[in-house]
Amino acid sequence: MTSIKLKTPHTGEYEQPTGLFINGEFVKGVDGRSFDVINPSDESVICQVHEASEKDVDIAVNAARKAFEGEWRSVTPCDRGKYLSKLADLFDENVDLLAAVESLDNGKAITMAKGDVGAASGCLRYYAGWADKIEGKVIDTNPESFNYTKKEPIGVCGQIIPWNFPLLMWAWKIGPAIATGNTVVIKTAEQTPLSGLVAASLVKKAGFPPGVVNVISGFGKIAGAAIASHMDIDKVAFTGSTVVGRQIMKAAAGSNLKKITLELGGKSPNIVFDDADIDNAISWANFGIFFNHGQCCCAGSRIYVQEGIYDKFIQRFKERAAANKVGDPFGADTFQGPQVSQVQFDRIMGYIEDGKKAGAKIETGGKRKGDKGFFIEPTIFSGVTEDMKIVQEEIFGPVCSIAKFKTKEDAIRIGNNTTYGLAAAVHTTNLNTAIEVSNALKAGTVWVNSYNTLHWQLPFGGYKESGVGRELGEAALENYLQTKTVSIRLGDALFG
Ligand code: ADP
Repeated sequence: MTSIKLKTPHTGEYEQPTGLFINGEFVKGVDGRSFDVINPSDESVICQVHEASEKDVDIAVNAARKAFEGEWRSVTPCDRGKYLSKLADLFDENVDLLAAVESLDNGKAITMAKGDVGAASGCLRYYAGWADKIEGKVIDTNPESFNYTKKEPIGVCGQIIPWNFPLLMWAWKIGPAIATGNTVVIKTAEQTPLSGLVAASLVKKAGFPPGVVNVISGFGKIAGAAIASHMDIDKVAFTGSTVVGRQIMKAAAGSNLKKITLELGGKSPNIVFDDADIDNAISWANFGIFFNHGQCCCAGSRIYVQEGIYDKFIQRFKERAAANKVGDPFGADTFQGPQVSQVQFDRIMGYIEDGKKAGAKIETGGKRKGDKGFFIEPTIFSGVTEDMKIVQEEIFGPVCSIAKFKTKEDAIRIGNNTTYGLAAAVHTTNLNTAIEVSNALKAGTVWVNSYNTLHWQLPFGGYKESGVGRELGEAALENYLQTKTVSIRLGDALFG
């Protein structure tokens, strides 16, 4: 069996694929192994999905290679765009189902899950538009030669995605890879395989040639590691923890020097100046850290407020955080659902304990919510010092620290005092401050008077240890292309 009937509270019964999507079909893994998918809201088993072994990775890579060297090559750029565009339409037509599957499996609030589906289809459609706009250049050097560059696809791309935005990360990876003419083997996270498999059924429906998009479920240490070190994968794109990012880089170096892009962790500063619109800054600070239950690589987890408004800010911010509705992801007004897994829940609670032991003060939250499911109260720590673990390490949960600063120079120094560099934000009504501080912050994205407002047209990625390369926007295309220079000798002049 490679599918099962499941129910969500939002859509009723639907057909959930459970197989590995290889060469255009859902199949069982060769070893016949499967693993449990857990509902983070009540800790029950939703279903089992087939698990990819190293052998299955090989089979998927062979399918992707065959497609790349065969049928996919003769598909015109314009038609590649049509496939992606059709897939985007299918995402839109199935928004309720895709969102419900995401909420069931990942635990995210249904309103947010619908937002993710819209952003995923927007991303696919955006890259559909790029498919026939990939162009090289003519470069004049001297009258004896005619030179041009061609932008060619890299080949078979391995893509490894995390569990925090299962469907959105799927689209971020598939969009630019397919638009530029590559074929892919994408591995979803073991915690959240379901939406990626429903999306695979839409790939089939959109009529993609077999082998162009292969979607496998499996574990990082087995299927993920097999992708990273595979000798016939030309490029790997990874989103996840910095620890695993390093392993992927090593595996690429130790195998065939495959190209890599890494989108890794963060510990992003959110800086609020005395002259900020305080209501606005509180709303964005709340959204910056607690959106998606704090499970965002760009979460604004270090909040710095200038001393003039600090007392007022913290009082109102903690009231605001405590009022966030935490509970059933299918509740219409739920803002925060459960954390994705027991492992993540334990990790976050460990950090909270560590913060308490280190002497930080809990302003609000700090506890489990309910006795079933992985729910954690929105938590704010004050009284922190820069060297504390909760201020330096990525917690990936609904936990932030807040501290005071005096001057602009202080804010810049503290903001940059981390090994990460994914994102940052500045809240001020002074244009000079906004520009000066944005320029000085070492981060791939800086938001001014907002937070987490990502868009598929805007490049996203990390400075420092937050990553290699950029996703989204025109910038992401470069990660999936290589430049060929063709130099033609003109005339009949003999060499030498
Ligand atoms: P987290 O710790 O938040 O689960 P990870 O970085 O471990 O984040 O996981 C992100 C993705 O990386 C998942 O798809 C996971 O299966 C995969 N992964 C984990 N370990 C490895 C590894 N050693 N090699 C390749 N992929 C891995």
